[in-house]
Amino acid sequence: MSMIPSGSTLDTVLRSACLPPLELRMLLGHILQLTRVQLITQSDRILNAQETQQLSALITRRMAGEPMAYLLGEREFFGLSFRVTPAVLIPRPETELLVELAIQRLPRNGSLLDMGTGSGAIAIAIAHARPDAKVTALDVSADALALARENAERNEVHIDFLQSDWFTALHARQARPAFDLIVSNPPYIVAGDAHLSQGDLRFEPISALTDHADGLSALRTLCRHAASFLHSDGWLLMEHGYDQADAVRQLLMQNQFADVQSWRDLAAIERVSGG
Ligand code: GLN
Repeated sequence: MSMIPSGSTLDTVLRSACLPPLELRMLLGHILQLTRVQLITQSDRILNAQETQQLSALITRRMAGEPMAYLLGEREFFGLSFRVTPAVLIPRPETELLVELAIQRLPRNGSLLDMGTGSGAIAIAIAHARPDAKVTALDVSADALALARENAERNEVHIDFLQSDWFTALHARQARPAFDLIVSNPPYIVAGDAHLSQGDLRFEPISALTDHADGLSALRTLCRHAASFLHSDGWLLMEHGYDQADAVRQLLMQNQFADVQSWRDLAAIERVSGG
């Protein structure tokens, strides 16, 4: 079974209607390691059998709904390139808000902790923009940490990585670390939310998306314990769902955070709250 007939030229492939043109171009460029311009200038190049087979396989997976980022193995975030696998959530543009706020708030030579780092996108983007910062990132998943390490190396930043189920490994330490800033994009989707069984989300790690409860469990854990790992003037900044800003501000206030506020993403949705 092949949807790309053998002997096809790049031009025929790019004109076939099995996927949106941009996606075809990206898959073809990925397989042949060609830029967008090269795809045009070499449009009469004929695909060999192996290339044809590779492309057909990727097209089949894409038609079954697999996210482009997993097929290409990478995604851009905050102007940097990250390797992504199904072990981690695909970095989202709206998460750049959290990164921007952290970069603004972090004092000179300040320390930052990213909780549930996944691909490492947040921690690495911050460390890249603020070489003066001391950045620590943790995750419960060993696979995620291995990928985040690779991404730190790829983007030439130094991060201290730690395997931990939220604050567990930090609580266990003799000398309790204190940070200027704690940031997190935790799983916040409510159990049973229809989005979990639609689109890209079906292919992403479920533990990075939902707490299998009311969507607030991880946010609650962060609000309850962050203060014991922050300097007195430190900040906790969390990404959350489109309808969770009130609840998260409430949690922050219940846990004696001051200056509690929310920030809107580019779609004007309250996306990050902190205090
Ligand atoms: N923002 C993601 C989505 O709605 C959810 C990510 C998360 O739970 N942290 O697709």
